[in-house]
Amino acid sequence: MKADQFQAPDYYNLDELLSDEHKMVRDASREWVKREVSPIIEEAAQKAEFPKQLINGLAEIGAFGPYIPEEYGGAGLDQISYGLIMQEIERGDSGVRSTASVQSSLVMYPIFKYGTEEQKKKYLPKLASGEMIGCFGLTEPDHGSNPGGMTTNFKDKGDHYLLNGAKMWISNAPFADIAIVWAKNEEGRIHGLIVERGMEGFSTPETHNKWSLRASATGELVFNNVKVPKENLMPEKSGLGAPLGCLDSARYGIAWGAIGAAMDCYDTALRYAKEREQFGKPIASFQLQQKKLAEMITEITKAQLLAWRLGVMRNEGTATSAQISMAKRNNVAMAINIAREARQILGGMGITGEYSIMRHSMNLESVITYEGTHDIHLLITGLDITGIPAFE
Ligand SMILES: Cc1cc2nc3c(=O)[nH]c(=O)nc-3n(C[C@H](O)[C@H](O)[C@H](O)COP(=O)(O)OP(=O)(O)OC[C@H]3O[C@@H](n4cnc5c(N)ncnc54)[C@H](O)[C@@H]3O)c2cc1C
Repeated sequence: MKADQFQAPDYYNLDELLSDEHKMVRDASREWVKREVSPIIEEAAQKAEFPKQLINGLAEIGAFGPYIPEEYGGAGLDQISYGLIMQEIERGDSGVRSTASVQSSLVMYPIFKYGTEEQKKKYLPKLASGEMIGCFGLTEPDHGSNPGGMTTNFKDKGDHYLLNGAKMWISNAPFADIAIVWAKNEEGRIHGLIVERGMEGFSTPETHNKWSLRASATGELVFNNVKVPKENLMPEKSGLGAPLGCLDSARYGIAWGAIGAAMDCYDTALRYAKEREQFGKPIASFQLQQKKLAEMITEITKAQLLAWRLGVMRNEGTATSAQISMAKRNNVAMAINIAREARQILGGMGITGEYSIMRHSMNLESVITYEGTHDIHLLITGLDITGIPAFE
């Protein structure tokens, strides 16, 4: 793979909107990605392996629980710092960012928000340091966009719960130490349970043959009469709103992350277009290529503004789920379109692993589907502005 020469575009001087702490956190993540992720990521993706050697570094840059308070091992940062860390990691690879997102927003967040003090003390510091890795089980084979229909269930057996069912498409499942599992009780109410690797009847088969997010491990969670201790139920919130609250946080991170992938594609295509000559001139001098590049930087700038404003509202606690849906949907679609255009600017070279664009392009096919598909986020906006649900 080519040496990482990334230079971040900032067409509207958005750095002026960032605090010194934001810039420090962002620059540390950027340097780490250049040093540790870029040199190894293409090979990991080609081999379809999650690069576990990155776990310690992810913990060191604060990517595991950036906004979790320091007393529980988190970095105690604000939402914009969280977003910037996700942006920088996804500039390297969406699969690596997925691991950080799941750990922070789908594992640490529910324990922090819905868990007991004992659960917080037991799990959060180990998750923040990377000593423990978690996964999040919501999707089922027959319930993806409609998670409320889930059939995974648990029964009260007096001194423990008995868990049965299966989850599918679970990031980090094959090697996670714990799983946050969403399941229905005997009354049909959804609760979150912390299931630990090693519990009898719990297995995590890996999903193979993915063309997308290859540097991230995906698997199933299978529960066959798993005895879960009662103290592993997170008591502070139940119902579908509990997992959806986690998804808000993760989707917000994706809205920033997608900008990272788009910036990398744009920056690569711009450099290539200025260097590559055809018909005796750099291809950047042709109007058709300038149109592509000009539209890319316009869309990146709009997405940056959307993410930044959402971050301000997240810090104030005023961002709605529908506002988060809009940013996730817009920014991922923006990134996937830019990846496609950037790939064309590189001609034949664009399809090789010499450059990051094709990997980003394939990764974004997962990002546009998980955490709510492109269609579902549009329906959320539609519901928000009309008051009429069009899901069923
Ligand atoms: C690589 C990867 C990692 C993932 N990681 C996790 C994870 O860690 N944890 C987890 O719980 N899940 C995870 N997922 C699952 C992901 O969230 C689901 O794939 C997603 O929610 C869509 O569900 P589905 O695949 O069953 O598609 P479906 O729900 O079957 O949707 C198929 C198509 O139908 C459309 N559709 C569905 N309902 C409607 C409707 N009402 N109106 C119009 N169109 C509709 C969808 O937009 C989509 O285009 C992951 C998925 C992938 C690919």
